[in-house]
Amino acid sequence: MCIFCKIVKKELPSNVILENDKFLAFHDINPKAPIHILAIPKAHVNSFDEVSSETMAGMTDFIQEVVKVVKIQKAGYRLVTNIGENGAQEVPHLHFHVLGGAKLRWDHISDADPKGHF
Ligand code: 5GP
Ligand code: ZN
Repeated sequence: MCIFCKIVKKELPSNVILENDKFLAFHDINPKAPIHILAIPKAHVNSFDEVSSETMAGMTDFIQEVVKVVKIQKAGYRLVTNIGENGAQEVPHLHFHVLGGAKLRWDHISDADPKGHF
């Protein structure tokens, strides 16, 4: 069982922000911004690549609720989901990083030449 499934089952502890029968939001253990929340579906799905549009519809409502709970809706925030090897995904259970609480940087995504492909 993956670590986020263990968090869902409360076999591992987490700092929960919001929860319903299908989704869970908790603080990232290693925050990269003053607010860094992970929002996940409770049912295991490997990544965005494999998620159904039905789950994503629920995920959208849930994340919109999370940003209201932590009061970052007005100031703005960033949503990130990493997918697979090149996406630098470490935990193979779909999660959306909800980042905010300060102005975020938007540079140095890759060490490769960003103009080198096309
Ligand atoms: P990824 O690189 O897969 O997109 O992000 C995985 C995230 O999960 C990382 O930001 C990492 O800090 C977080 N993380 C890994 N293990 C745990 C854990 O046991 N608890 C919590 N709350 N976050 C975790
Ligand atoms: Zn899982």
